[in-house]
Amino acid sequence: MTRHPFSQDLRDRILYHLTRTQGREPEAATIFDWRLAVSHTVRDLMVDPWMTALRHTREQGAKRVYYLSMEFLIGRTLGDAVINMRLNEAMDEALGQLGLDKREILEDEPDAALGNGGLGRLAACFMESLSSLQCPAVGYGIRYEHGLFRQRFEAGQQVETPEDWLNQPHPWEFTRIDYSYTIGFKGHVEEVDGGVEWHPGESVIARAYDMPVIGWNGEWANTLRLWGAHPTTLLDLQRFNAGDHAAAAEPEALARTLSRVLYPDDTTEAGKELRLKQEYFLTAAALQDILRRFLSEHGDLRLLPGKVAIQLNDTHPAIAGPELMRLLMDEHGLGFEEARDLARGTLNYTNHTLLPEALETWSTWLMGRVLPRHMQIIEMIDADHRAATGRPDHVGIVRNDQVHMGELAFIMAGKVNGVSALHTDLVRSTVFADLHRLHPDRIVNQTNGVTPRRWLRMANPALAGLIDETIGTGWTADLDRLSGLEPHADDPAFREGLRAAKRRNKQWLADHPLGDLGLKADPDAIFDVQVKRIHEYKRQLLNILEAIALWRRIHDDPNGDWVPRVKIFGGKAAPGYWLAKTVIRLINDVAATINNDPMTGKFLQIAYPPNYNVSMAEMLIPAADLSEQISTAGKEASGTGNMKFTMNGALTIGTLDGANVEIREHVGAENFFLFGLTAEEAAAETARPGHARAAIEASEDLRAALQMVAEGRFSGGQGDPYFALLDRTWNDDPFLVASDFGAYFAAQRRVDAAYRDQAEWDRMAALNIARSGYFSSDRTIRGYMADIWRAGPVGG
Ligand SMILES: *Cc1c(COP(=O)(O)O)cnc(C)c1O
Repeated sequence: MTRHPFSQDLRDRILYHLTRTQGREPEAATIFDWRLAVSHTVRDLMVDPWMTALRHTREQGAKRVYYLSMEFLIGRTLGDAVINMRLNEAMDEALGQLGLDKREILEDEPDAALGNGGLGRLAACFMESLSSLQCPAVGYGIRYEHGLFRQRFEAGQQVETPEDWLNQPHPWEFTRIDYSYTIGFKGHVEEVDGGVEWHPGESVIARAYDMPVIGWNGEWANTLRLWGAHPTTLLDLQRFNAGDHAAAAEPEALARTLSRVLYPDDTTEAGKELRLKQEYFLTAAALQDILRRFLSEHGDLRLLPGKVAIQLNDTHPAIAGPELMRLLMDEHGLGFEEARDLARGTLNYTNHTLLPEALETWSTWLMGRVLPRHMQIIEMIDADHRAATGRPDHVGIVRNDQVHMGELAFIMAGKVNGVSALHTDLVRSTVFADLHRLHPDRIVNQTNGVTPRRWLRMANPALAGLIDETIGTGWTADLDRLSGLEPHADDPAFREGLRAAKRRNKQWLADHPLGDLGLKADPDAIFDVQVKRIHEYKRQLLNILEAIALWRRIHDDPNGDWVPRVKIFGGKAAPGYWLAKTVIRLINDVAATINNDPMTGKFLQIAYPPNYNVSMAEMLIPAADLSEQISTAGKEASGTGNMKFTMNGALTIGTLDGANVEIREHVGAENFFLFGLTAEEAAAETARPGHARAAIEASEDLRAALQMVAEGRFSGGQGDPYFALLDRTWNDDPFLVASDFGAYFAAQRRVDAAYRDQAEWDRMAALNIARSGYFSSDRTIRGYMADIWRAGPVGG
C-alpha cells in the first residue's frame, strides 16, 4: 500500500484534537468526538489560506464583494472542505489507520440548513465559487439557531419539528466578540440644526460569527459572517433580586428572538414585524461592518463604489438602500445627492421571482413604526426618482400605503439581474417593465450555476473518477472541459463505465435510503426524481397524477411490456401552505396504495423519503436517471436542481421554463424530453375561461386519475381530504396541470421508449454531462464580476 506522505501527519493531528479539544482518549471516543477531532484538524489547515487571502486583499487595496442574503443553505462542511483542500486520499488513509468509517463520520455532521431552497443554496454555491476564483468577498447572513424545520410524515401528512443544529459545538465557527454592532429599532426622529438624529426605542447587539469558506485547491478562503442577536443588557438584576427570575431574563429572550428562527415561507411573503426586523438586523450589521472596514482601509467615502460592491440576494436586504444613505447622511454628514449616488454605485439587486405573492411589501405604517428614519428616506428617494424621471405615479416605491421593496431595490441599484435568460426577459417585460423603460441599461442577466466541487466531485465519486480517468482532473476548476467527454459518448467502454457508475449510485440508494423506507427498489428501473420545495407552480401534482394514470394502465394490462420505474419525491411545504401540504399527503397516500399492489409492483413504485435537504440531494441526484423539471412555463425563475441533475448524467423531462431553456440549448433538443406550453402560451391559456375543464374532458387518463382521487381510492374510500384540491384543479387550475397533462403523459412514454435502448440512453446521458459545463457557478460568478461588480480576482 502506498502511504500518502501527509496521512501520518493527519492521523497525529486528529489524535491531538481528540485529546486536546475533545478531552477524550481513543478508547472512550464516540463518533461525535472523532468527527469534531477530524473537523478541527481540517479547520486548522484552512486558517493559513484564509489569513493569506485577507492579507493579500488588504495589501493590494482590492475591491471587495459583499453578498447579503437572508439564507445560506450550506449543508455539511467537512466532506466539502476535505475535497477542496485535496486531502481526500490522505484522509482516507489516516481514518483507515485509526479504524474509522469515513462515511459514518461525515454523516454525523448536521446540515447547516439556514435556507429554504434554491435561493439559499445559490448563495452557498456562490460563496464557494468566489473562494475558488480568489475573488475577495464576504457573505453576510443570520446565524439562525434553528434552521429550516425538520419534516416527518404522520399518516402521510407533513409534521414539522424544530431543527437544532447548534445544540452541539459548531467546529467551523469563529466567534468575534470584538465585532459587535448596536442595531436600533423604533423610537423617534429629531431634527437638530440642519441634521437629523434617530433615537431608537429598542436596540440589540449583532455579534459576528465567522466561517471560512475554502475554495478549490485550498489556496484561498473567504469569510461567511453570520450575525447572532444578543441583548444590550443581559439581565434585569432588580427584577431578579426581587425574585421574578423569568421576567428578569426577558430582555435577553426578546433580543435573541431576532436570530432564533429562519422563516420557512418559501417564496410567499411573510408579513410579520419580526421578519422586517430580521431583514434590517442583517442589513444594518453588514453595512456598519462594511463601512468600518472600508474607512480603515481607504478613508475617503467618495472611493466607496470603486472599492465595495454589494449584492442583494432578492429584496430581503433591500433596506440596504435607505440604510446606507442614512449612514452616509446622518452619521457622515454627506448631502442627499452624494449619498444617493454613492449608494447606487455600490448596491446591486438580484431578482428571484415574478410570483406576485412573493414580491415583498410592507405597510408604510409598519415601516414608519419599526424604522421611522428609513421611512423618511424612502419617501425622499421616491420623490427624487419621480422628479428625475418624470415617471407616472403607478411606478413608484410607495403606493397605496405600501412600501414596494422590489421598486426600492431597483431604484437604489446600479445593476439589477435576473437569474436565467427567460427570467430576465420576463423581468424586463413584466414586473419592472416601466422601470426598465426609464433605465434601459440597468437590467442584466446572470444565469445561475452550481458548484461542481460539491455537486459532482464530492457527491458523485464514481462518476468523478470516471471523468478523471477519461479527461484528467482539470474539469474541477474549469467545467467547460467536460466537453472533452463528447467524443467518448460513442465509445462503448466509456458508456459502460458511465452505466456502472450510475448503477452503483442507484444500488446504494436502493439499499439504504429507500431500503430504510421498507421499499425494494429495482436498480434497473428508471429512477425518476422530483426533489425541490413543494409548491403549486412546481407541479408535483402533475407528476403524481401521471403516476396514477400510469398505474391504472398497468393494472389494466399487467402482462404488458412496461418499463419499470421508481418515482422518487422529496421536498418540504411551508407550514402554512395548505394546498402544498395536501399534495404531500396525496403523494404519500398514492405511494401507500401503489407500493402495496402486487400486480403492478415490478413496474411502478413510489418513494417519498422525508426531510429533503442538501445531504439528501447529494445522495438522490447522482442516482437519478430522469430529472423532473416540470414547472408551469414562466414561473420558475431559474432552478438550480435542474443543473445538478444534468451534471450527474440524468436526462431531463421538462418545460421551457427558467434555466431549462438554456440546459436544452446546451445539451441539444434531442437529448432532452420537452413538453408543455411555452410561457407565452401558458399566459394565454390561463386567461381562457374553462381551460381546465376542457383539458380534463379531453383526457381519459387524467379524468380517470382525478376520479380515483375523488372516490378515495387512495384514502380509505373517503375523497374528502382532496375535494378542495380537486375543485381547484377542475375549476381554476392556475398552474395548468390539466392543460399540460396530455403532453406530459406522452413525454413520459417517450422516456420509457428511450430507456429501452440502453446504449442510446447512456449516449444521451454522456452528452448531458459533456455539455453541462456552462452551469458551473464559476461561470456565473465570472459574469457578476465582469458585468455587475467590476471586481477581479486577487493573485494569491
Ligand atoms: C438545489 C437545491 C434546491 C433547489 O432546487 P430547485 O429544483 O432548483 O428548486 C432546493 N433544495 C435543496 C436542498 C437543494 O440542494
